[in-house]
Amino acid sequence: MILKGQLHTHTTYSDGEMTPQQVADAYKSLGFDFLAFTDHDHLLKSSYPEAVKRVRSDLLIFCGVELTVHSSLGYVHVSRVVGDKDVLHIFNHPADYDLTLKKTIGCIEEVAAQHPLDAVEVTNHGFYTPEFDIEEIPYPKVAADDSHNRLGCGRGWVELECERSRDAIIAAIRGGRFRNGFAGKSASRNRAAPAMQIRLA
Ligand SMILES: [Zn+2]
Ligand SMILES: [Zn+2]
Repeated sequence: MILKGQLHTHTTYSDGEMTPQQVADAYKSLGFDFLAFTDHDHLLKSSYPEAVKRVRSDLLIFCGVELTVHSSLGYVHVSRVVGDKDVLHIFNHPADYDLTLKKTIGCIEEVAAQHPLDAVEVTNHGFYTPEFDIEEIPYPKVAADDSHNRLGCGRGWVELECERSRDAIIAAIRGGRFRNGFAGKSASRNRAAPAMQIRLA
């Protein structure tokens, strides 16, 4: 089964404009199979976990948080996407920090030394940033929306072929067994992954 998923979204429980239910409904209408809520840790309202549990949707939902992590080059964002037993950590939107490529690589290494890290985003607000989709960054590279409103939904996503379970999805991402999809473009294969014989829906 090919699953289409979104690993980075915001809701009214931090600085997003849509409620968790509205976010889930928006991604449902775009044909997604799973969705991670990743509201900002420093803005998070205390009832967030309950609000995520109350969402009624066919989508497989991950409760996550976007962590603000200190590095010597400034604060960066790392998503923690919580599965059933497993947890996925993604270094977010490297283009957002105004660092040179060399400093970005150093920053990722510094964060990885103090923090678990499984993957790196190659998108900024859902738009592909190919300068970070390179072998020198030795992690699976994921596309994600970082959506804060309806307009930001459905620009960049991941597609993978695995069992429909949170931990199986996390394992597939960590292992690089997925491909990235972008609105208006055909999906590009994750460069860290072996070729996958799947076709786009
Ligand atoms: Zn962020
Ligand atoms: Zn974000």
